[in-house]
Amino acid sequence: MAIPYSLPANTTERAKPWTSVSDDQWNDWRWQLANRINSYDEFAQFIELTESETIGLKAPNKFRVDITPYFASLIDPHDPDCPVRLQVIPRAEELQAFEAQMEDSLGEDAHSPVPGLVHRYPDRVLMLVTTQCASYCRYCTRSRVVGDPTAAFFNRANYVKQLEYLRRTPQVRDVLLSGGDPLTLNPKILDELLTGLREIPHIEIIRIGSRVPVFMPQRITDEFVEMLRKHHPLWMNIHVNHPKEITPELVRACAKLADAGIPLGNQSVLLAGVNDHPNTMRKLMHDLVKMRVRPYYLYMADLVEGSGHFRTTLAAGLEIMESLRGHTSGYAVPTFAVDIPGGGGKVPVQPNYLLSQSHHRIVFRNFEGYLSTYTEPTNYKPPKMTRWIPTFPAEPGQRGVAGLLAGEGMTIKPAGWDQLHENRDEHDEINLTSAKNVEIAPPGDQPGWMKLH
Ligand code: SF4
Repeated sequence: MAIPYSLPANTTERAKPWTSVSDDQWNDWRWQLANRINSYDEFAQFIELTESETIGLKAPNKFRVDITPYFASLIDPHDPDCPVRLQVIPRAEELQAFEAQMEDSLGEDAHSPVPGLVHRYPDRVLMLVTTQCASYCRYCTRSRVVGDPTAAFFNRANYVKQLEYLRRTPQVRDVLLSGGDPLTLNPKILDELLTGLREIPHIEIIRIGSRVPVFMPQRITDEFVEMLRKHHPLWMNIHVNHPKEITPELVRACAKLADAGIPLGNQSVLLAGVNDHPNTMRKLMHDLVKMRVRPYYLYMADLVEGSGHFRTTLAAGLEIMESLRGHTSGYAVPTFAVDIPGGGGKVPVQPNYLLSQSHHRIVFRNFEGYLSTYTEPTNYKPPKMTRWIPTFPAEPGQRGVAGLLAGEGMTIKPAGWDQLHENRDEHDEINLTSAKNVEIAPPGDQPGWMKLH
């Protein structure tokens, strides 16, 4: 069969320590894993380390360092601004605490009905199946568990418990495998896990989140892809942050996965100094689409300990989104999202395109600043329920604003709202023991405001 497109045949140039390694070893993912580098001495062999990197590498008790020889070869040894280098070599700044930092900023631990399984949304779950990654990102959201070889809860006994929970939870139709990186698991164990999931009739799709194709594309062998394709419908999100990570090896690995019918998406994290310029992001999005990877999310950095120096303002992300929408194809525009602290989940953010609205006219602006009016119909009626409209299981407690629009309730109230506002006699003591630093109007005709401390 004619191949409709050609793949690059060249390879990434190896860094100094590995120039004499045989091709067989280099192309073996097990060799890549076994020969990762992590110490100051190993990096100093071929990289002109800065003072900040030296402090970072020599610091005790830091988040795990390990980089595959392949990914380390992408580092510019002479340029401390190299975007690959910034992502994986620790710097002194990561030892500094910042305001608002949290250990579990996404509140995942609070949503775990069984160890390693996060059930935050009504119809889908996150399965954390390993703590291991092929290399470690300095901004990792799950650095509280990732990289810890002693984290005992990722084991076969817990996979059994996770599968049992899913069997008795029929509203779950979508399972995301993550970790750590599921593609670092022994392929037999991953195959068993996927088979176990596929045996549950209500699991419609399985997704895998993995940075292995980026850190270690050698892992994406024909045999491995054959194993994955048995478990369709299977989707995969990779994680590329900068165009420098897109190598001939990654292009070929993504082609294998896409040819096996696995839809590919990409999740990037907005990182100061790495990819926070609109031009960088635009080039990255174009390169991803060229290799059949759909840009999916661009995340605001989480409030994770050790990652303060990677954080940007929200405005930096909005400016990037402004530079993408309309300036390039819609397929190349990801959703910019903030995973809001405390377990609130992902909230999409974008520049405002809807400028104003009257009874039946809406004024929009486009990416050029052109203003236009969309006139709404005056005779539109909301859809009536017919047998052609599918129904879905109830989402008790999680209908949110959609529930208000559907008329299922009139208000959503913060905890304690009723007690705060219940009818009080004007001479009653105001019972606001939990309120702090608020000013309230005094009862009756008493003058002045009361300050609660
Ligand atoms: S690959 Fe993902 S889980 Fe692993 S260190 Fe990087 S961000 Fe964390």
